[in-house]
Amino acid sequence: MRIERIIAQRLKDINPSPTLAITAKAKKLKQEGKDIVNFAGGEPDFDTPLFIKQAAIEAINSGFTKYTPSTGIPELKKLISEKFKKDNSLDYSPEQIVVSCGAKHSIFNALLTLINPQDEVLIPSPHWVSYQEMVKICEGIPRFIPTSAEDNFKINIKQLERYIGKKTKLLILNSPSNPTGCVYNLDELKEISSLCVEKKIFVISDEVYENFIYDNHKHISIASLNQDIYNLTITINGVSKSFSMTGWRIGYLGGPVEIIEAISKLQDHSTSNPTSISQKAALIALSTNNKFLIEIKEEFQKRRDYLVSRLKRIKKLSFVIPEGAFYIFCDITKTELDSLTFANRLLEEAMVSVIPGKDFGSDNHIRISFATDIEQIKKGIDRLEEWINKL
Ligand code: PLP
Repeated sequence: MRIERIIAQRLKDINPSPTLAITAKAKKLKQEGKDIVNFAGGEPDFDTPLFIKQAAIEAINSGFTKYTPSTGIPELKKLISEKFKKDNSLDYSPEQIVVSCGAKHSIFNALLTLINPQDEVLIPSPHWVSYQEMVKICEGIPRFIPTSAEDNFKINIKQLERYIGKKTKLLILNSPSNPTGCVYNLDELKEISSLCVEKKIFVISDEVYENFIYDNHKHISIASLNQDIYNLTITINGVSKSFSMTGWRIGYLGGPVEIIEAISKLQDHSTSNPTSISQKAALIALSTNNKFLIEIKEEFQKRRDYLVSRLKRIKKLSFVIPEGAFYIFCDITKTELDSLTFANRLLEEAMVSVIPGKDFGSDNHIRISFATDIEQIKKGIDRLEEWINKL
């Protein structure tokens, strides 16, 4: 039978991630014994801390291996509620929180709950690769709002106004951003929120890189600005990035009661609870003092500073210094290569893997991740510099 007749319509236009293709190629070369420097990583390089692993082992040994309440165990939701209050000035009661299988799952739940067929979803671009595909699966229409290096890759109110139409249902805001590292400040968020309130646009605020923020920049949750924007916002976070727990699959969201009730129903009848064992691990992770998170942040600040200082010397590249996350989005226009060719050649000829910007909405960029140790960063940037100077 022809594939078109088997696969549901809503999945026909979904693109497989080209990012995966280049990372798979890098992995294969590594397995063959090649000394690849990995600048492609989308997760912190350090191991999940031992005290978190131990909590999971204890959960297994004590038989905490059965179904839990679908939206998460009460003690975890209580802790998340406290975290939102303490770190983000957000009042979400435990009943306003749903714990899911990663922040990606939380975003998907939120989209599936809010989008009706043909609803438009605004996505500032460059953007994380999964947003538009998720919107399409939910039968919505992704509309990109282009941004540029001149604007530090941030949307402004004028642009936003231009893109809001009759069918606009929501805006996905990602600060700190993957791939650009931009961080929205208070004034910018105030402007965006006032327009969203005026036009009744919902906001999905993806804050998973909250802990990776540099210099004196500050992470601000848009929903904390006032009651009106709070009523329209779903705030997304998780433990994947901050605690290097990407494989444990725990993300969470907070939002207005009616939306949370709908998301809970969705989760009841789809995945049910996220893994019981991972929930216990997340409970311990989130109850740590800030010392652990501060150390991680300081390490990433050093890496960013070093990488920035080295990249500045490479004339054929230009970039905006990232204020958050762990990526530098480099403009490669002067090399006259498209991003896929650049990434493939860099991998084959200099054994450094990066992600082509095309996946993120710009074929003139590549994404360099500094979620790798400083020795690897030195080695990788030496190779990149030498290779690019020979182009
Ligand atoms: N949001 C952004 C912007 C991301 O970059 C990622 C992961 O790369 C996620 C969400 C997903 O996080 P999680 O591993 O918790 O599903």
